[in-house]
Amino acid sequence: MSSKRIISIGTRKIGGGLPVLLQSMAAVKTTNVQAAAETCERLADAGAGLVRLAVDTAEDAQALKEIRKRTTANLSVDLQENYRLAENVAPFVDKIRYNPGHLHHSETEIPWQIKVERIVRIAEKHNCALRIGVNCGSLDPALLTAAGGTEVPALSSALQHSEFLDSLGFVRYCVSIKSSAPKTVTAVNRQFAALRPDVPLHLGLTEAGLPPAGVMKSRLALEPLLADGIGDTLRVSLTVANDRKSEEIEAGRLIVQNAASGSILTEADWCEDKLNIISCPSCARVENGQFVQLAQQVREAVQKYKDKRLTIAVMGCRVNGPGETDHADIGLWCGKASVNLKCGKELVGSFEYGSVISEMLRLIGRLEEAAA
Ligand code: SF4
Repeated sequence: MSSKRIISIGTRKIGGGLPVLLQSMAAVKTTNVQAAAETCERLADAGAGLVRLAVDTAEDAQALKEIRKRTTANLSVDLQENYRLAENVAPFVDKIRYNPGHLHHSETEIPWQIKVERIVRIAEKHNCALRIGVNCGSLDPALLTAAGGTEVPALSSALQHSEFLDSLGFVRYCVSIKSSAPKTVTAVNRQFAALRPDVPLHLGLTEAGLPPAGVMKSRLALEPLLADGIGDTLRVSLTVANDRKSEEIEAGRLIVQNAASGSILTEADWCEDKLNIISCPSCARVENGQFVQLAQQVREAVQKYKDKRLTIAVMGCRVNGPGETDHADIGLWCGKASVNLKCGKELVGSFEYGSVISEMLRLIGRLEEAAA
């Protein structure tokens, strides 16, 4: 059931049954031009057909001009909340990703259709592909239902934006529908592929987390899809430092090989209904360089709960941190000098990096007592 439509992204093509394109993302600011260019080169050498970078400001976007000169890697940029930056980045990249949910974070008086049309016309002018990057942790509020759950609104959002791009006569796009829950990713991508088999799909979890669990979760979600011919490009979003990002490519290669050979991980092999640590892969937006270490410290500190049903989410910044931690039992999202600790949707407090682990353990202890 591979998508029928083939689209070009820089020197590569996806869709139509072509080999799955592996991607990764640099976790370094574009304004650190040399480090960003070297990361792009290193990832391309490791097998990344596309390398993504994050930009938040005009200065970040301007730095892409120099990065473009220093690397031959195909480049993609994540716009996140600032759709107006499309104009600044498009001349220097091969693909732009926008998140439909983030279009509602600012300039709320402007309808999303106006914002998307602006992105589309810029992409056309500069020969860029687009990705409609739906994320279950940051959905369009108008699509959320009283019944809760993210699968239905995520699917609706992906269909709605695909139809809108089609109506503008722009078909050089792919879609991703990501969640941190493997079952959700598998289910919602199956549904989208059944309804829109013509649209290339980018597969992945929003936050696979620390390896090796992050690789296992990604295998659980992606191998069954690829084995059924669903998926044209993928990224394994591991919580590793920038100099280890090539591990995302190695994990992606493993997943593609397993799907092809039928060595598919199933829930019987790896149960996700126990201690579940979700952590973002980090990117240029990470607020404090201690983030990856913090995620590792959380994992070590909670090992005694390994057989409990407990979900802990650790996020690197304010962009996705507040929303992506809402559905976890315990959430930690990083600020510059402190870490925000949450219990479900409630903020418990902000604590220094050196003390947040003990505060988190105290909180878990209180939850245990309350449940006893
Ligand atoms: S949560 Fe923030 S730091 Fe982490 S990957 Fe997402 S945008 Fe980057």
